[in-house]
Amino acid sequence: MGPMKKIAIIGLGLIGSSIAHAARRGHLAKQITGHDASADVLERARAIGFCDTLHADIGEAVKDAELVILCAPVGAYQSIAQAIAPHLAQGAILSDVGSVKSAVVRDVGPHVPKGVHFIPAHPIAGTEFSGPESGFASLFDGRWAILTPVRGSDLRAVDRLKDFWLGLGSQVDVMDAGHHDLVLAITSHLPHLIAYNIVGTAHDLEQVTEGEVIKYSASGFRDFTRIAASDPTMWRDVFLNNRDAVLEVLGRFNEDLSRLQRAVRNGDGQTLFDLFTRTRAIRRAIIDIGQDTAAPNFGRLPFQLYVAPEPEKKKSKPAKKPAKKSKPSKKTAHKPARKKR
Ligand code: NAP
Repeated sequence: MGPMKKIAIIGLGLIGSSIAHAARRGHLAKQITGHDASADVLERARAIGFCDTLHADIGEAVKDAELVILCAPVGAYQSIAQAIAPHLAQGAILSDVGSVKSAVVRDVGPHVPKGVHFIPAHPIAGTEFSGPESGFASLFDGRWAILTPVRGSDLRAVDRLKDFWLGLGSQVDVMDAGHHDLVLAITSHLPHLIAYNIVGTAHDLEQVTEGEVIKYSASGFRDFTRIAASDPTMWRDVFLNNRDAVLEVLGRFNEDLSRLQRAVRNGDGQTLFDLFTRTRAIRRAIIDIGQDTAAPNFGRLPFQLYVAPEPEKKKSKPAKKPAKKSKPSKKTAHKPARKKR
């Protein structure tokens, strides 16, 4: 199949910008248009240049697009679907990248016009960074993209979207939205909840100072902090929209944790050893299928510390500014300001 005539990306953060970069690398579209609710993000996206055209008007962005991909936080999907519905072209594919799928079908499905193919999707790829500067073309290389077609989805459209994700560098799986939500609840959502919790607990611990927590973080804590630096808005929306599956796996997790607690209290080394042996095998399996590196410490050198360069004596051209660290928070009551990167 040849390149698409036009694709439209709604939400130009980590995932949206990475799709644009990768689509351009793979020559998957003749025109890539973008829209973001934030004028500041649009301006930054324009400066980077990963879209051919950018539109503050969402209707303009999706007009005549063969493929429209929603890349905003899932909590915004319903209002976006309402806004774009009258502007979608007949025969267009409407897809998304949201980390939950049943809620997307619930929120977007009712607004999809007849003649538009709605095929939700989720790339299992990401980082703890966000915003248009954090995207890169190889984000999806070798990672899985899961498509969750709805009942009656047009099979040719599903194949077209599959090809698109293959072109972005992904491997593609197809499954039911409910099953996706359960699988991701255990592989992604629960680990994030645990990371947010353990970092919060360490921060609140009175007997150990914050300085000590940071200083000795390489003993395990540090790896949780990477996950716990993930975007607050995105993750708030994930937990609000995958409540049932998360509560189900959380229940199982709590039971297993109680069992471990008992084993520690009773000095039951065999139970601990058996579990740790089983989990080590899972880690090995992840490396064997190429989803992570076998290098010790994830390939990080233990003492590779950042050393600031000597200040320059001569005044030459201004030093390259580091990527923007944070943006002003939106003035919603429950949307916390981003503090990351
Ligand atoms: P991100 O970097 O924060 O980008 C999201 C962008 O969408 C932001 O620029 C945001 O603007 C914008 N936005 C918010 N509301 C909007 C609206 N109503 N219309 C248009 N744009 C809007 O987030 P991300 O990490 O790319 O995540 C985007 C989606 O990808 C989420 O649905 C998430 O579940 C999914 N996903 C994320 C990952 C990951 O690891 N990050 C992995 C797989 C899938 P403001 O910042 O101004 O709000």
